[in-house]
Amino acid sequence: MQLYSTNNKQNIASLSKAVMKGLPDDNGLFMPVEIPKLPASFFENLESYSFQEIAFEVCKTLFQGCIPEADLQGLIQKAVNFPAPVVSLDEETHILELFHGPSLAFKDFGARFMAQLMSYFNQGNNKELVILVATSGDTGGAVAAGFYKTPGIKVVILYPSGKVSLLQEKQLTTLGHNIEAIEVEGTFDDCQALVKQAFLDKDLNEKIRLSSANSINIARLIPQAFYYFEAFKQLKDKSRPVAFVVPSGNFGNLTAGLLAKLMGLPIDKFVAATNANDVVPQYLETGDYKPRPSVPTISNAMDVGAPSNFARMLDIYGKSWSDMKSDIHGFSYNDAETRVGLKEVYDKYGYVIDPHGAVGYLALRDFQKSYPNFQGVVLETAHPSKFVDEVEQTLNTSISIPERLESLREKKKEATLMDTSYDSFKPYLLERHS
Ligand SMILES: *Cc1c(COP(=O)(O)O)cnc(C)c1O
Repeated sequence: MQLYSTNNKQNIASLSKAVMKGLPDDNGLFMPVEIPKLPASFFENLESYSFQEIAFEVCKTLFQGCIPEADLQGLIQKAVNFPAPVVSLDEETHILELFHGPSLAFKDFGARFMAQLMSYFNQGNNKELVILVATSGDTGGAVAAGFYKTPGIKVVILYPSGKVSLLQEKQLTTLGHNIEAIEVEGTFDDCQALVKQAFLDKDLNEKIRLSSANSINIARLIPQAFYYFEAFKQLKDKSRPVAFVVPSGNFGNLTAGLLAKLMGLPIDKFVAATNANDVVPQYLETGDYKPRPSVPTISNAMDVGAPSNFARMLDIYGKSWSDMKSDIHGFSYNDAETRVGLKEVYDKYGYVIDPHGAVGYLALRDFQKSYPNFQGVVLETAHPSKFVDEVEQTLNTSISIPERLESLREKKKEATLMDTSYDSFKPYLLERHS
């Protein structure tokens, strides 16, 4: 498998280089040179494949032999080890639950697969690899769980003190082993600045092998395509046209859906559902792409003003607005509307959805006003208990919290408190990791 940079198609990298580097030098994003279709026999027999077998077939087709099949099997078994069930609310409304992993959000799929690929490509290298991650909350938990106990790899997570929820903090600070947490007395931007400076520091990079668990790493995108196939497999009526509704922030999830479609999955439409941060729905409506600072909302994992995967979407459509617009329909909702959607799902179906999924639900209903013959699959990107206060207030009822989240409460936090200066961060890294 080869990948090119969205900024320059001549800038080619192998899968291992793309995964270990994360970003091309020219600041574009990696895209596969070839996106082959899966064979007809695969689609004819889709229902007989397990989720792991689907993941294997998708990877095998995309990777084109760059990882031996036996190794790929092993890697997928470790990365894809929890289900992605579809819950049908009625014949035209399906919920794809992506929150059955350790951090209760879909990001577990990407983080686990990336961890497996990095550790695979890191084999034979006896110098420890140190992965630096700045997190505002969610990504850190998924990355920590994904890399936990991965041989040869240490993870250093920087998070802003007092700005993540208690349970989010526990997800970062209670694992131990190869996961270290640094509690930065500053903002998420300060955390990110420290990580950036470390990557640019020549002296440091000579002494420590650094890498990033960047959200735009191609290794996070690929596994997100698996569950579109897995969801389609579970649909009872495959003759009815289907729209996948994707609550979106950086648009990685939606881009992975486009990848699944390019590989032959018969997805008729995508619905891009956003909160007030509606740069992409605006683009779809007007043809003008105007990134702007994000505004805070109750679906905060989608508070993104300059979606990082938009470059990949443009690339897929050859920069054609009209082509993108004919596949993808955009809708956006404010917080008050989101609460109405959350409540409607509960009152009508007795299903507890989270604020991100609620945005998706509203978008499906608005989409179906123009396309009433479509069935929709809403990606439920997080478990509602991650947003327990908002959900309980809106529904005026208490909801249950899964054991794997609740049990974190009792665990002891271990983090190194640090100010925002690089003069504190660099000696810390050198002392522990060189
Ligand atoms: C990250 C995240 C999103 C946004 O996903 P993108 O791939 O960035 O569009 C949506 N919902 C939840 C719960 C998330 O954690």
